[in-house]
Amino acid sequence: MSENKSSTDEHGWTPIKDGALDVAAIRADFPLLNTPFHGKQMVYLDSAVSGQVPQPVIDRMDHYQRFEHTNVHRGVSTLSQEATDRFEEAREKVRGFLNAASSKEIIWTRGTTEAINLVAQSWGRANVQAGDEILLSAMEHHANIVPWQMLAQERGAKICVIPMNDAGELILDDLDTLITPRTKIIGLIHVSNVLGTINPVKEIIAKAHAKGVPVLVDGAQSVPHMTVDVQDLDADFFVFSGHKLSGPTGIGVLYGKKALLEKMPPWHGGGSMILSVSWEKTTYIGLPGKFEAGTPAITQAIGLGAAIDYLQGIGVDNIAAYEHELLNYATEQLSKIEGLRIIGNARKKASVVSFVLDGIHPHDVGSILDHDGVVVRAGHHCAQPVMKRMGVPATTRASFAYYNTREDVDALVGGILKVKGIFG
Ligand code: PMP
Repeated sequence: MSENKSSTDEHGWTPIKDGALDVAAIRADFPLLNTPFHGKQMVYLDSAVSGQVPQPVIDRMDHYQRFEHTNVHRGVSTLSQEATDRFEEAREKVRGFLNAASSKEIIWTRGTTEAINLVAQSWGRANVQAGDEILLSAMEHHANIVPWQMLAQERGAKICVIPMNDAGELILDDLDTLITPRTKIIGLIHVSNVLGTINPVKEIIAKAHAKGVPVLVDGAQSVPHMTVDVQDLDADFFVFSGHKLSGPTGIGVLYGKKALLEKMPPWHGGGSMILSVSWEKTTYIGLPGKFEAGTPAITQAIGLGAAIDYLQGIGVDNIAAYEHELLNYATEQLSKIEGLRIIGNARKKASVVSFVLDGIHPHDVGSILDHDGVVVRAGHHCAQPVMKRMGVPATTRASFAYYNTREDVDALVGGILKVKGIFG
């Protein structure tokens, strides 16, 4: 499939050209989507938890393990040099995917969570003191709350919160006063994993920079669904996980501006990140190795590179446009169900519909749908403060990817009507 570039519509979305997304062909690439599940065709509506992995990505990792594998950045053997080349090519793919200025700005981590912990521990310990403030948004995932709380506790710093309205949009009117002279960093989710809200990160970053405050963007739920350009956003740090991007688990990325990363101390110590070690003193190599102690997730990094190739083959703008229409269709269909309330009605949303059903616990909804072959997530989605703000203990969440169809949405609606019948 070739990338299909076209101009955007009045909402900024690229309209889908007929045949731009051949979903039947795409679905044929996904073994799990074609495996019977509870005796039925699986309807996978849980891509926000983890994306499914297409055969070319599985094949690439399989090939690496069978024919190319050894450790990287070690030794002069041809095998090691070639494995290192494949590993570094994957880093370069991530650089291109995010439009980072240099592959030295791409640090491999285990995922979004580890990337945020790296920044909180390395940048945070070097820069946050007693009385300082860390500003987070009201819709953060626990991964962008807990590492900052741990740092704040250690340092005697304070966590402050950008509020949101009932629709699930950040209230930015008072941003200028929320960013105080004590604000050291802002942590901001790009797309909410619960509400689907697309936050105006570029505008927030511009306001933060006007006050000299850096911003970390949690892109776990944005990169699978829209083109991201870290230079255009002017993000200081941008993090994501491979497994939400049709890649494997165990690999993720910290993008950081070179000037910031260069000043940060290493976080993990060990092999691969040193220039010299003696009993008296250890010196470190430069970026990106300084932050990559020990043997990295080589197979997974190469798999993530293959996943990026796969998505770019379809065209990320095509994916965004297709999913946007699917989300509109799902919202329309779900809104027709009596007693169903959508949690998160922001004007700009991506890929996620959370909802509650009158008098029926989301866990019951999730379990009954599961028996019908419809995979959704039910619970607090690692965002308990969002649940509290929205006044619900939990939601059922359907999340979409480029391999989902309107038929999947219809199956969800049918399943929900069945749940209502059982509890009716
Ligand atoms: N942030 C967001 C917005 C997420 O959706 C997730 C995964 N649910 C994470 C962070 C954490 O990602 P991981 O578990 O891959 O580290």
